[in-house]
Amino acid sequence: MTQTITVIRGDGIGPEIMDATLHVLDTMNLGLSYEFADAGLVALEKHGELLPAATMDSIRKNRIALKSPLTTPVGEGFSSINVELRKRFDLYANVRPAKSFPNTKSRFPSGVDLITVRENTEGAYIGEGQSLSEDGETAMLTQKITRRGSDRIVRYAFDLARRTGRKKVTVVHKANILKSTSGLFLKTAREVAQQYPDIQCNEMIVDNTCMQLVMRPEQFDIIVTTNLFGDIISDLCAGLVGGLGLAPGANIGTDAAIFEAVHGSAPDIAGKGIANPCALLLGAAQMLDHLGQSEKATALREAIIATLEAKDSLTPDLGGEGNTMSFAKAIAGRIAA
Ligand code: ATP
Ligand code: MG
Repeated sequence: MTQTITVIRGDGIGPEIMDATLHVLDTMNLGLSYEFADAGLVALEKHGELLPAATMDSIRKNRIALKSPLTTPVGEGFSSINVELRKRFDLYANVRPAKSFPNTKSRFPSGVDLITVRENTEGAYIGEGQSLSEDGETAMLTQKITRRGSDRIVRYAFDLARRTGRKKVTVVHKANILKSTSGLFLKTAREVAQQYPDIQCNEMIVDNTCMQLVMRPEQFDIIVTTNLFGDIISDLCAGLVGGLGLAPGANIGTDAAIFEAVHGSAPDIAGKGIANPCALLLGAAQMLDHLGQSEKATALREAIIATLEAKDSLTPDLGGEGNTMSFAKAIAGRIAA
């Protein structure tokens, strides 16, 4: 059976890493067909709008999108096109794995294998209730936490643990200070956790979590937290294992899911053909898991690891002399083998 996915090639290094990623996917007999759609800067130039209706329709119909980085031009209506996409499709779960890989110059070349599950739709990101007094001397921000939003994200984390054979979920909060908002999140999390007696649940205050992550990251398995804490913690985790070139993310909702690299469009290296394609490839591996093709996802991850181990055609950010396409071909060769 053929599964059609929406493919957004993006801008900056986007088209280069997408071509490399599709090259690898094409060698894997996945039964995927691609429907290309525009968003961001490219869409504005071609169609006069950042998020054309045809792109929205394509994602709505296919329910799965693989997306390269998108630039949001300043002063074009949205503060971020990526945040806007998450909002429009109610992609409430932002799932960011952080895993040690060999030969990445990271501080933790082994031992880290964790997933941050970040609530993606509420918290400090609702954009409502922000105000600055007329004299510019006082600013206010409203955070929104709901039982429904907390329940579904914590449930997502526990289901993910079960599905992937993971053992522990750490609920990260600040309920000692943010008694109402973070308090409601923690209370809801405790209730959900009771329904998963097979998974260990522990609670950790966000500041301590940051220290623990830097000192003993191997103690974490799945972290679930609210929007702003998740934003910060998942970048911290990406940093632990070697940074942006290897950090993928999935944005998952009930009706659609978008898979991507965490990094941006990297205008400083765009057009040079030297961007590391691994973050988007690892995003594609998350997509394959989501599509029920876990064996293929595992084969892809193993090929990436083997290529890193062999230091075969690595891109300059990893200290190699390869380029985007030669790296992708080295990975594809190890899958086919
Ligand atoms: P944007 O505004 O789209 O986020 P940016 O200028 O913030 O763009 P990022 O893409 O966030 O750039 O990247 C930050 C730094 O990391 C840049 O120096 C960039 O070259 C580097 N970088 C990001 N992604 C990659 C990649 N896939 N391969 C190699 N280097 C990368
Ligand atoms: Mg950036």
